[in-house]
Amino acid sequence: STRRVSTSSSISGQIVAAFGRHFLVKTASHTPLSCVMRGKKGGAACGDQVEIKLTTAGQGVIETILPRSALLYRSDVYREKIIAANVTQMVIVVAAVPSFSEELINRCLAAAENQRIRGLIVLNKADLIEPTRTAAASLSLYRELGYPLLQISAKTSVAPLLPYLKGQLSVLVGQSGMGKSTLINTLIPDAERATAGISIALDSGRHTTTHARLFHLDEDTRIIDSPGMQEFGLHHIDGKDLAWEFIEFRSYLGQCKFNNCRHADEPGCALGEAAREGKISGRRLDFYRKLAILPGAMSRA
Ligand code: GDP
Ligand code: ZN
Repeated sequence: STRRVSTSSSISGQIVAAFGRHFLVKTASHTPLSCVMRGKKGGAACGDQVEIKLTTAGQGVIETILPRSALLYRSDVYREKIIAANVTQMVIVVAAVPSFSEELINRCLAAAENQRIRGLIVLNKADLIEPTRTAAASLSLYRELGYPLLQISAKTSVAPLLPYLKGQLSVLVGQSGMGKSTLINTLIPDAERATAGISIALDSGRHTTTHARLFHLDEDTRIIDSPGMQEFGLHHIDGKDLAWEFIEFRSYLGQCKFNNCRHADEPGCALGEAAREGKISGRRLDFYRKLAILPGAMSRA
């Protein structure tokens, strides 16, 4: 009978792909290892730092998930799932053509604020000059709030984005058609090849296009791409706490006439007053109200 290597010491690594109960873990000394989770423990996600033990060559068992710094959830009405861990910033990819959903931008920024990570907006397809100019003007609101707003062309010029990515674990989000795949392929020219390698390693090629993936640009610069990432769950944020995730609202919270104010349009709502006086954007307040009614509601734009 084969002897289990139960005395081997732990190896630490990072989950670079998650496929149900199967994971690919990148360690310092190995090409990504195919791993399973010890026991029935669930909830590991792309980006998690883990400790594994080797069983047979090329196989591992995840023994421990190390403490996490930031979690992003995807949810539908029925369930909620962690899709990325330990991210340090969220890169929201939009483009003037086809049009983007501003509601989605607000949902993403709220999710980023909730996890205390930086949000930045990348306006792709800047080579389409006129539509981009119009879109940039409408997005200037977010730059005024402090969110970087960059213009790039995934096809010809991604340089403005590079300094923002450096040293970060970024999660890329965006509706389909915004150019996210083009951007990933420009940033990581061997992304296709890496994906093929992963299908072989897990013998489940059919899953590779629907799950989160972590790519290295260099040693300390990493990107997570997830096809379903635009569907952020805000379920775990209470409707009232959601107001705190709209950064410019913070200084008004606690000043409403009623302390159970839902900021829906009650008399004496400090946010409503601030919007009427032009101190905060009415557009943002409308997005807040929309999200607060059903914080977990999906915006399938
Ligand atoms: P995804 O659905 O977000 O992954 O988008 P894709 O990367 O598939 O791109 C959607 C379409 O936009 C494709 O036809 C791309 O060729 C096009 N596209 C992507 N980036 C750019 C860009 O920077 N400029 C222009 N003009 N088109 C782009
Ligand atoms: Zn209020």
